[in-house]
Amino acid sequence: MKQYDPQMHTAEHILNQTMIRMFGTDRSFSMHLERKKSKCDYHFHRSLTTEEEQILQDKVNRVISLGMPVTEKYLDLSEAGHLYDISKLPEQDARSVRIVSVGDYDACPCIGAHVNNTAELGHFRITTTSFENGVLRIRFKIDRDG
Ligand SMILES: [Zn+2]
Repeated sequence: MKQYDPQMHTAEHILNQTMIRMFGTDRSFSMHLERKKSKCDYHFHRSLTTEEEQILQDKVNRVISLGMPVTEKYLDLSEAGHLYDISKLPEQDARSVRIVSVGDYDACPCIGAHVNNTAELGHFRITTTSFENGVLRIRFKIDRDG
């Protein structure tokens, strides 16, 4: 299991929930997270306008600026299966599932490393988006201090 950059990984959780709320997508089905730049792919039917990109970016930054705690809890496999899509988790034989929450904004099963509070993220910035063959790709960076 590759260990992602905690800041980028937490930003991905927030971006996913914001895509769900704004556009009714699922969480990204494919992603590539690096410390310097990342990209997430979503099943969608069109490209985003420049204005939509700006609103999406603003919404993610709003969550970051609210300083939401990032917490984890463990649920029984059956309970988690009722509440969340656990089909992508690699450890299907485990008895419990780790649920990672970003304040009351987002919660999903995840095994990766995250920051403890969204205030630890820098400014979230969408660099480009593109659309091809039913896949919307969002590329983004986090502007960090120093
Ligand atoms: Zn995660």
